[in-house]
Parts: sequence; C-alpha cells; structure tokens
Amino acid sequence: MTTRNLIGQRIDVLDKGWIELQDIMGDDLAIVNAARASFLGESKGPEKDKKLLFYLMEHRHTTPFEMVEFKFRVRAPLVTWWQWVRHRTASYNSQSGRYSPFAEGDFYVPAEWRLQAADNKQASEGVLTGPQGEQLTADLVAHYARGFELYEQALSQGVAREMARLFLPGFAVYYTWIVKTDAHNLMHFLHLRMAQEAQYEIRVYAQAIFEHFFKPTLPWTAEAFERFVLNPR
Ligand SMILES: Cc1cc2nc3c(=O)[nH]c(=O)nc-3n(C[C@H](O)[C@H](O)[C@H](O)COP(=O)(O)OP(=O)(O)OC[C@H]3O[C@@H](n4cnc5c(N)ncnc54)[C@H](O)[C@@H]3O)c2cc1C
Repeated sequence: MTTRNLIGQRIDVLDKGWIELQDIMGDDLAIVNAARASFLGESKGPEKDKKLLFYLMEHRHTTPFEMVEFKFRVRAPLVTWWQWVRHRTASYNSQSGRYSPFAEGDFYVPAEWRLQAADNKQASEGVLTGPQGEQLTADLVAHYARGFELYEQALSQGVAREMARLFLPGFAVYYTWIVKTDAHNLMHFLHLRMAQEAQYEIRVYAQAIFEHFFKPTLPWTAEAFERFVLNPR
C-alpha cells in the first residue's frame, strides 16, 4: 500500500473511538534530503540514504524529522484528550460542545475495570473479574443514561448547550479533534504515550498511530526510532 492510499483510512480505537489520517506531507527521503540541506530527488541511493537517516536518529539530529507532517482526525474520550493536549508542540482544533449537542451514545464504556496498582499511585495492574465488574459496567451505563437524560431536560428548558453539558459525565464524553504535528514531535508523543506507564486510554491511540500510520509512512524512521529510542541497547 502506498502512503497516499493511507489518507482517509480510519482505525477503530476503544469502544467508539477512531483515528483517521487526513493528510501527510513528506516521507523518509524528505528527512534525508533536509539533512543534506538539499531538495527532493537528491538521493544518494537507498543504502546511503537509510544510513544517514539512522545516523540522524542515533545522534538526535532532530530538525530533519520536522520536515514530515501528519494530520489526524481523532475521536477519543475526554480522559484521553486531557492527557493528549498536554503535548504543546501539536496543533489542535476541537469539536465544541457549545455548538453541537451530544448524542446518547457519546460515552466511553471500558471493556474491563483495571485495579489500582499497589506500588505506583499513577498506574493500574490486573483487572476486576466476575460479576462485580459486570455490575460496575451496568452502573456506569445507568449513570451515563441519567446524566444524558438531565442534559436533554436542561436543553428542553432552553438552557444553553455550554451549561447543559455540566450534566454529562465529563471524562467519559467522546470528542472529535483535529491534530497536526510533525514526525519529530509525534515521536516524542509516541515515546511517552506508548510506554507501559502511560494510561491505557491514551496508549491504545499512540500504538494505533504508530502501527497503522507512522510505520507505513516512514518505514526507515520507524525502524531507527525503535532501535535508538524505544529499545536502545
Ligand atoms: C506517564 C505520564 C504521567 C504524567 N503525569 C502528569 C501529572 O501527574 N501531572 C501533570 O501535570 N502532567 C503529567 N504528565 C504530562 C507531562 O508532564 C507533559 O506535560 C506531557 O507528557 C507533555 O510532554 P512534553 O512537555 O515533553 O511535550 P510537548 O509539550 O509536546 O513538548 C515537547 C518538548 O518541547 C519542549 N517544550 C515545549 N514547551 C516548552 C516550554 N514552554 N518551555 C520549555 N520547553 C518546552 C520540551 O523540551 C518538551 O519536552 C504526565 C505524562 C506522562 C507521559
């Protein structure tokens, strides 16, 4: 599959989320040619080009990687966005709950309930099994339904959408955003958010971007990133 064929592709993430690649600018060769402060077409052949790209990654010569841009449309729950938008080097545009009303199914229902890790206040380990987990899920869905009912009731009384949304279960609401970033800053995001310490609800988005969009678009960069950044010896 060519990189151009990836544009418009949508990958499902979590229960109702997705990532769609909207646009790409550049490829591995654009990075190599930027490092040569040259122009497209000035390749020295695949072997030398790839070697140079690996050198750039190994020695953190980062600016050539900024020559490649990715633009995604992403649907994710607020619990994911809460962490994603901390990455200041991306450009974002968000759906607005002030303009568009939410729909009944716009809430994240986790597939399982992770347990609090004993030795890390920010982490989870293991899952709640059996009827207790099923009951929690049923309670959560009922909680969403009640919140949505109150939201609709407020709207029907003429309350502004920007206020009625106070009734919605905040962290669970799905929002759609546009995210644009370059390959250097995307790798920084992927490094932090694909890590085991990252929360599952953002980790699955980072992994999906890496596997489905980053690797096919920048195969040499992805290989060098795995060797020198993700799994350094
Ligand atoms: C596992 C994990 C746990 C976290 N826990 C918390 C938490 O408990 N509380 C919390 O508030 N945050 C938390 N964060 C968020 C974290 O502190 C960062 O805000 C987030 O990861 C974005 O990283 P960044 O600033 O490197 O990325 P970006 O904002 O994309 O910036 C990329 C790089 O650009 C440079 N840069 C960008 N802006 C500036 C600036 N203004 N000044 C100087 N250099 C700049 C820095 O070198 C930075 O590394 C957590 C992140 C992770 C991965």
